[in-house]
Amino acid sequence: SRILVTGANGFLGAHIVKEALDSGYIVRGTVRSSEKAEELKKVFPSDKFETTIVPDLIESDYTEALKGVTAVIHSASPFIVTINDPKKDLLDPAIEGTLSVLRATQAAGIKRVVVTSSLGAVPSKPELIFADVTYGPDDWLPITYEQASSGRLPGNIAYIASKKFAELAAWDFVKEHPELKLTTINPTMIYGPVIHPISSLKSLNTSNATIYSLINGSKELPDAIPSFCDVVSTAKIHVKALESESVVGKRVLFSKGTATIYQILNVIAKARPELSDRFPSIPEADPMEGKTISRFDSTLAMDTLGVKGLGLEETVLQTVDSLLELEKKL
Ligand code: NDP
Repeated sequence: SRILVTGANGFLGAHIVKEALDSGYIVRGTVRSSEKAEELKKVFPSDKFETTIVPDLIESDYTEALKGVTAVIHSASPFIVTINDPKKDLLDPAIEGTLSVLRATQAAGIKRVVVTSSLGAVPSKPELIFADVTYGPDDWLPITYEQASSGRLPGNIAYIASKKFAELAAWDFVKEHPELKLTTINPTMIYGPVIHPISSLKSLNTSNATIYSLINGSKELPDAIPSFCDVVSTAKIHVKALESESVVGKRVLFSKGTATIYQILNVIAKARPELSDRFPSIPEADPMEGKTISRFDSTLAMDTLGVKGLGLEETVLQTVDSLLELEKKL
């Protein structure tokens, strides 16, 4: 059968396309322009892969895109943390973009949809990811829409708020249209090999850019959410969710565990010492040492869908090796 994947040329989107093709689906991917479609076809030369152009997440008509489609994975959403206007740059495309995909999906009589949300939509305590708790599917980020759109929050917080409100909009939509079966996937920071088309390492996706900043000679310790998962497993979760009745109506949280910048840097330093002149100076102890980092209930992903996820070392080194390869090519 044929599925539609939005944001197919993104970091995660391309891995979802790959997993879906490997699972036997005919995959139609949305991209914003014909140039992006051509680039992506080079990555997936299969005759089971089609592209369709949806120039604007909010305004576009999905009639053509949804012809012959039996299920939708909506993954497109801005993941940027340097913003001018939180509403225009993040909240509108995330929320209205999700609603326009869901409206078109429902109108086309399609019954199954998986939406990529974020683990950022989950921490419900004031300390967020530093609360000594295990968060689960009933937890929701306490930030209000007014706060998120005020322009007073840092870009990364406005971003996780955009994911929260997009996800809430999706759950509200299926309450009105119960014939549409929704699952959301809520992954934490995703790292892994780059297979999507990029023209320069300056346009690397936001999560991998964190790891790249440790080896690109900028010598700065980035700020990042101290937990991780790998991109191939995250893509698999999306595809397996489509086939599982057990996760209909559920939020599938996915974090493999803690990964502070210090831990990531130490993995790289140990395994790739030849890169040492590019590293920022490594602090003697982990600045996060002694801080509590919340746990996230990933039972649905790991047990129900059976995707255990890669460990930290493998995840980080696969990412680093892929970035070094890209450096040579670009
Ligand atoms: P990328 O930036 O690599 O991909 C984002 C995709 O969404 C691209 O295809 C992009 O198209 C598309 N997109 C972004 N904004 C718009 C817009 N306004 N209109 C149309 N298309 C748009 O990011 P990721 O692969 O990391 O993110 C994919 C999804 O995963 C997002 O929903 C993100 O929130 C979510 N996520 C990512 C995490 C991570 O750590 N990477 C963690 C948790 C969730 P274009 O290339 O044309 O810009």
